[in-house]
Amino acid sequence: MICIMIGPPGAGKGTQCDMLVEKEGFRKVSTGDALRKHIKGKTEIGLKAAEVVARGDLVSDDILLEIIKAELGNDSDEKILLDGYPRNVDQAKTLEKLELKNKIIAAIHLDVDSQELVARLSGRRVCSQCGASFHVDSNPSSKGSMCDKCGGSLTQRPDDNPEKVTNRLSVYEKSTKPVLDFYKEQGLYRKVQGSGELADVYSRIESVIHSLT
Ligand code: ADP
Repeated sequence: MICIMIGPPGAGKGTQCDMLVEKEGFRKVSTGDALRKHIKGKTEIGLKAAEVVARGDLVSDDILLEIIKAELGNDSDEKILLDGYPRNVDQAKTLEKLELKNKIIAAIHLDVDSQELVARLSGRRVCSQCGASFHVDSNPSSKGSMCDKCGGSLTQRPDDNPEKVTNRLSVYEKSTKPVLDFYKEQGLYRKVQGSGELADVYSRIESVIHSLT
């Protein structure tokens, strides 16, 4: 099964997906993580995408198709969480056409007030080694500026600065919000309140998933 997580930048998709991986045995497929890996490794895709990601704009659908094909398997028993894809309606249509054996069971919309998002993003820190996500106030690492999962150093993503954040939020409004309607029409849309304690948000997501499996 495939479960799609959709939400604005800073909604906490990455953190919640990591918890689902740990507790429910999902495999996370994050196009953002995949792109950052390409950028770090200076691959052909990485060189093309670096500037676009740094601006907070969307990378071309062609590149994303290449990434998503490489990341998704064709095993119908596997539990996959899709984080960051589809990000526009064309990508949602592409995903349908891929005719995966593994079926989409839900598109979970992690909904968070836009005022809260900026505060969340500016306090976000990510591990440069394993990619784990923390927040200086709401989800700090027990090892300060080091990752408490792998000991790597925590850094701020270049696209988490206020100017880039504003652009990412407007890209979300314009390109990604219509994807929610796309899944409403298919009866796959599920809304989850993303504000509040991490554990409470997690229970809400978990109960949606349990109700479908
Ligand atoms: P966020 O925390 O903003 O949701 P991600 O880590 O998911 O960010 O993605 C970071 C950046 O990678 C995006 O701002 C965009 O530039 C690029 N990206 C990720 N997924 C996609 C996609 N499906 N289509 C186009 N660009 C993408």
